[in-house]
Amino acid sequence: MRVKWMEMTSEEVAAMAERTPVALLPVGSVEKHGPHLPCGNDAYVAEKVCELAAAIEPAMVLPTVPFNVGSQGMYWPGCIATRPETTLRIYRDVCAEAARNGFDRIVIFIGHGGSQTVAEFYQEELNWQRVQAGDPGYLVFWSFVTEVMREAMAEVLETSGGHACEYETSLSMIACPELVHEDLIPGKAPVNEDQVPGAHYRLDWALRVPECYLGEPARATLEKGERLMQAGAENLAEIVRRVKVFDPEVP
Ligand SMILES: [Zn+2]
Repeated sequence: MRVKWMEMTSEEVAAMAERTPVALLPVGSVEKHGPHLPCGNDAYVAEKVCELAAAIEPAMVLPTVPFNVGSQGMYWPGCIATRPETTLRIYRDVCAEAARNGFDRIVIFIGHGGSQTVAEFYQEELNWQRVQAGDPGYLVFWSFVTEVMREAMAEVLETSGGHACEYETSLSMIACPELVHEDLIPGKAPVNEDQVPGAHYRLDWALRVPECYLGEPARATLEKGERLMQAGAENLAEIVRRVKVFDPEVP
């Protein structure tokens, strides 16, 4: 059964809206992922988790949004970062259009760490609208790729990371195997100390990670990727089930 909007005919989209009110919106980023992974990595991973989850529990998979905030990535070649308002506008328009097509419960599924703030901002705006001006007619949730894999990560991974690491590289071996440069997978990442501990500066991350990867990518394996991806898909499918019956009324 097809689950991706982009691959369906108009009639198939309408038929899917009869089956489920839930749509998943995969969101990636365009930025350097170490020396060995493609710049579109987060989009490939987020889309794959959504596709597998929708095969377990019916949900529409909206067209993947590759762009995201991520100005820290601009210090390396290959990044296309968008301004926060661009990402916010995409959320506004795509979610409203999904709802107009019959999918009025939308889960923004984020593959790029650090961009959750825009989804929260959008939810805040929707709730303000709901209270002030009346129900917008649809519900928007967000989830994050490491959130649905947390338990499996604790079981499967040998090293911590967060970017182009053992974790992300294992997932890429499933989501976009033909784009993983096996011969370029690096060992332990060099990491710098925080320059002003206890206070946050927007470039902290970029300053800390000179090679734009973390942990030990060389520990990645296909088997780890399979286990993480499977766990993520099952947990996201469970989120779809719960979103479907969610009651938004505050008592
Ligand atoms: Zn990533």
